[in-house]
Amino acid sequence: MTDTIRFNLNENDIPKFWYNIAADHGLAPTPVLNPFTMEPVTPEFLGALFPMALIEQEVTRERYIAIPDEVREVYKLYRPTPLVRAKRLEKMLGTPAHIYYKYEGASPSGSHKLNTAIAQAYYNKISGTKALTTETGAGQWGSALSIACNFLEMDLEVYMVRVSYDAKPYRRILMQLNGAQVFASPSERTQSGRAILAEHPDSPGSLGIAISEAVEVAATSGGLKKYALGSVLNHVLLHQSVIGEEAIKQMDLADEYPDVVIGCVGGGSNFAGIAYPFLRENIVNGRTTRFVAVEPAATPSITRGKYAFDYGDTAKMAPIVKMFTLGSDFVPAPIHAGGLRYHGMAPSLSALCDAGMIDAVAVHQVPVFEAAQLFMNAEGVLPAPESSHAIRVAIDEALEAKQTGEKKVILFNLSGHGHFDLASYQSYLSGNLENYEYPEEVIRTISERLPKVNA
Ligand SMILES: *Cc1c(COP(=O)(O)O)cnc(C)c1O
Repeated sequence: MTDTIRFNLNENDIPKFWYNIAADHGLAPTPVLNPFTMEPVTPEFLGALFPMALIEQEVTRERYIAIPDEVREVYKLYRPTPLVRAKRLEKMLGTPAHIYYKYEGASPSGSHKLNTAIAQAYYNKISGTKALTTETGAGQWGSALSIACNFLEMDLEVYMVRVSYDAKPYRRILMQLNGAQVFASPSERTQSGRAILAEHPDSPGSLGIAISEAVEVAATSGGLKKYALGSVLNHVLLHQSVIGEEAIKQMDLADEYPDVVIGCVGGGSNFAGIAYPFLRENIVNGRTTRFVAVEPAATPSITRGKYAFDYGDTAKMAPIVKMFTLGSDFVPAPIHAGGLRYHGMAPSLSALCDAGMIDAVAVHQVPVFEAAQLFMNAEGVLPAPESSHAIRVAIDEALEAKQTGEKKVILFNLSGHGHFDLASYQSYLSGNLENYEYPEEVIRTISERLPKVNA
């Protein structure tokens, strides 16, 4: 082991393949259902939303998928991303643990989401799609896709959750600079948006509603527009595997191997990105790394939700998948500032959690922001509130190691920087953040709100 802090790879180390966990996890596939018929989806149904190459990636059991040269060319702008040993944080905590983080905030969009945005835009472009539609919450996904669509000269329509559209103008401006059209959701542009507004004129919106709008626009465009999702789906998680593949090489340079790998989870993509390649090493090469997915106590889909078939969106137009869910009518508590607000969780991650191969914990937002501040004071990087959920648990693991004297090796994914999230940090500094526990009464009624399927 050395005194090195950054473990640098070069351009040639950018992975040439994406890794598909479905080849190795040994779990039975769960069907994806058409929300109108409750029957397994047909390629024609999915074909209205996605290009065929992505539909194939969604269902394939191939272990490795070659990354097209055009996509790797854009990855070269920011990949390999840094792997950093957080020595100053270790010292501040007085822990014998070694803490490493993979820094996806080094991408042009400021998060891991560009890894899949480029890939999705590319496969759409070569299959003749003229425009993409999507939803965005705080704007991370919309920002990434706007960069990708601008590079590939495609139009982009973004349905942005109303509260974020009003309260977080900066990412909206960034999307507009990249030529995207951004609409506050629910909007008057779609049937699903108008239906919500008729009942709730002041609706703050939700990711589930915005997905409905973006899906509707693509599905009714006569094939001109397709839909892109920033998380949850298998092909999205697949594209994120570049994070973990690079991290394996970088840990090797550090001459260490993680005892625990930690990531925050909204839909599950950045976590899967860092964790699945290491999980392969457990399954195939007998490693014994522990995996911890960290979610907010305000959106506790894995730790308190049901593992069941549910709609991907609020208007019940997106495919039904088996996942941990709080119910597709979930609307996040307005006081929750920490992101990660989706009602469900990636089906593959849900299955791995259900099978006990991955652990999940829920954390409250005030300790999350405290961890973020501590991390910034130690390492100088302002983390995204989402990523700070992982930092909280990494710090807790390091403090536990201090108690036991264990020299454990901790690796977490720093999924993005927090430069656009200063309003949330301001609430934290002024003492306006409260912890929020998702109410038990609502948890009890999840089953009643799920679709009735025979599967
Ligand atoms: C979108 C986002 C997340 C949550 O999405 P996942 O699909 O769970 O990764 C986490 N961190 C950052 C910085 C994000 O932008």
